[in-house]
Parts: sequence; C-alpha cells; structure tokens
Amino acid sequence: MEGASAEGDSMEELKGLRISSLDSDSEEDAAVVEENRKAVDVEEEDDEDEDDDLEPVMLGFLEKPEHPWSLLRQSFPSKAGGAPAWLDPVNLPTGRHCVCDICGKPLRFVLQVYAPITEKESTYHRTLFVFMCSKMSCLLRDQHEQWKHKPEQPSRSVKVFRCQLPLSNPFYSSEHSKNDGTDRPSSPGAVLCDRCGTWKGDKLCGRCKKVHYCSERHQRKDWKSVHKYECRQVDNSLQLSNAGSSNGGTIKTKVLTKKLWPEYEIVDEDEGEFGAKVTDDSQNNALSLVSKGKADDSMDSIIDGFKMDIDKRTFAIFEERRSRAPDQVLRYCRSSTAKPLWPMFSGRLPKADIPSCKHCGGRMIFEFQILSTLLYYFGVDNGRDSLDWATVVVYTCESSCDASVAYKEEFVWVQLY
Ligand SMILES: [Zn+2]
Ligand SMILES: [Zn+2]
Ligand SMILES: [Zn+2]
Ligand SMILES: [Zn+2]
Repeated sequence: MEGASAEGDSMEELKGLRISSLDSDSEEDAAVVEENRKAVDVEEEDDEDEDDDLEPVMLGFLEKPEHPWSLLRQSFPSKAGGAPAWLDPVNLPTGRHCVCDICGKPLRFVLQVYAPITEKESTYHRTLFVFMCSKMSCLLRDQHEQWKHKPEQPSRSVKVFRCQLPLSNPFYSSEHSKNDGTDRPSSPGAVLCDRCGTWKGDKLCGRCKKVHYCSERHQRKDWKSVHKYECRQVDNSLQLSNAGSSNGGTIKTKVLTKKLWPEYEIVDEDEGEFGAKVTDDSQNNALSLVSKGKADDSMDSIIDGFKMDIDKRTFAIFEERRSRAPDQVLRYCRSSTAKPLWPMFSGRLPKADIPSCKHCGGRMIFEFQILSTLLYYFGVDNGRDSLDWATVVVYTCESSCDASVAYKEEFVWVQLY
C-alpha cells in the first residue's frame, strides 16, 4: 500500500496549504483552494466506501446472434442496436416518452438488458431499455440540463425504461422456454412504425391507409424517400405484413435498417473470469505524481498537479479494470453498494444527486453502465455531431416498484469527455 500512503501524505500537505492561503489576501488563491477542497472532499467521501472489488460485476460483450430467433422477444434477449424486443409488446411508451425532448425526433434504440429479480413475483421477467437521440448536440444540452439542480420536467435526449412481468402474464407462456426456436409469444404485439420498427405505429398513411408510423416526422421522411413511389401500388399488390406484431418482434424487412444501429446480442461473463493485469504500473505512476508535485514549492503547481492527479488516477483505475476485458460494452452490478466505474473524475454524478424513484419515491441504485466501446460497434464516426461519451450510467428503483404504467422511466446519467 505504498501508493496509498504517499497520497495520504499529500492530502495532509494540501490541507495545511489551504489554511495558510486563506490567511493571505489573495481572493483568487482562496477560490482555487476552495474549488480544490471540494474535489478533496468528494475524494474522501468516496474513499470511505472503497469496496469496488467486493462487488461481482457482470460484463456484457457484443456478438452476432447465434440463431435468427435469439433476439425475438419470446427469447427474452439482452441486445444492442436494431429495434427493441419489447417485453410487454402492447403497452409501449407513447407520446413525449418516445421523442428527444430537445429536437423532437423519435429516440433511437440503444440496448436492452434482461435482468429479472427472482425474489419478487412481479419481476420474474424484467428488462431495461435504453434509448438515445443520435445527435451529440442534443446530448450536450441534455447534460447541461441535468447539471441544473433537479429540474421539474427535465429535457432528456437519453431515456431508460424498466418493464417487468410476473411468470403468469398475457404475453408469454409460463412454461419454461425451450430456447430452440420453437417458443412462440402467447399474443401479438402492438403494430409498430414501418419506418423505425421501434415505436407504436398508431398513425396511418392517409392515402393508402396501410402503412403505419409512430410520428408525423417518420411519415414525412418515409414519404420522401420511399413511400411516395410505393403508395400508388400499395392498394392490393404490396403486402406490407406487420411482421413485428405477428411473429414476435422480428424487424420488418421494410424498416430502414440503416436508420437503426447495427444489431447484436449481448452475452455476459463474470468479470472475475478475467484476471487483473500483472503489472499495476499505470496506477502507481499516476499516484506518484502527487509526490512529484510535493517537491515543487509553488502552491499553484501543487494544486494543478493534484487536480491532474485525480483525473489521471481515476482514469488509471478505470483503464486497469477495462483492459482486463477490452471488448466489454456493459458493466452490470445491481446492488445497493455498487458504484459505476468512472472513466474521469470530473462529470461524475455525486451520490447525493441520485434522484428518488419518480414512481414510488424510493431510493434509486446503480444498476449498469455502458462504455464508449459500444460506439465503435455501432460504427459511430468522428463527425461534428456524432455521439461521444465517456460512460452512460443507469440508476433504477431499488425496490423495482410496480407502478401502473408498463414502461417506467428510470434515471440515466451521461459522463461526457
Ligand atoms: Zn435530439
Ligand atoms: Zn417511427
Ligand atoms: Zn400510403
Ligand atoms: Zn420505485
């Protein structure tokens, strides 16, 4: 524990410096020190419950699905990209829940995690769904809004929904699924949008009355690109079967898959299967920066060094864990003491700022985080308005409460670079 004691020394040193600087007349110095003090406080608060290694983390990796039926809703998949495999296929989110609150576009499906909780009857099946606007400018606005203190009606460009069902439910057989491609859902789902295959298609093309849309926007887009040519022939000839509702969640061939992110199955593995790297050099180097700063007698450089050190140290810890399984896109650990693994020190969500469940008022806890590796799999380029994030962290109701609505919105925090 050489590193830890070196750090301890330097914290003592900084506290000493703080007192002397407040005695001085320089307001600017005091401000800098104050800012720094906050950082130190947060650091200390976190160190108190430094128990990362005690919590077993499940890692999620992306693979092309093994079977064509693996991602259908009756297979209860965890999946990324494509269209969602809605757990409750009827009572889907509607209205403002489906759109980016900032630009008004229908949100795009990111991923879903099947995470049943066995202790409770109503959570026999339980899936969390993440959606996001594909514009980075919206995500920036979203996080700007989040930093304002607890807005009444927050404007979000990223949303998470929790859906849960008991074993006995109208949509799936209560017999154990055979998982061989012969499972069938017990009932059809809602008709989905022919453009995005994601949201409820409760708007019809006014002319042919055969094609469904989730929004005026998707109707307009679809008209411009394809439907104005199709609509004339659609009368009797074109069979636009609503496959999404009848056979349990396959994407209709008509859905423009280029408007969705590429589809993968998420497979999980215990992080314990991946050993720690033998050398811990990166971490030690970062820690030793503190001692280097100490040797310098200018206070500013010590403080700068300390700030840099917090970021470097946070990143070093993150990178050490991530590098054990570099392809991971998801870290899952539902427990009241679990914490996200932050890539950076700044832009973390302080524990005290985790909101209460908006359905039951109860406590919310960390459940999983998405890493930026996902953007690589989604083929997101480095364009001006392309998505980029350090991590996306999902917090859910600790009791996984049963509210009246089928899709309960949970809380999501995005740490941006
Ligand atoms: Zn948007
Ligand atoms: Zn749509
Ligand atoms: Zn039409
Ligand atoms: Zn709740």
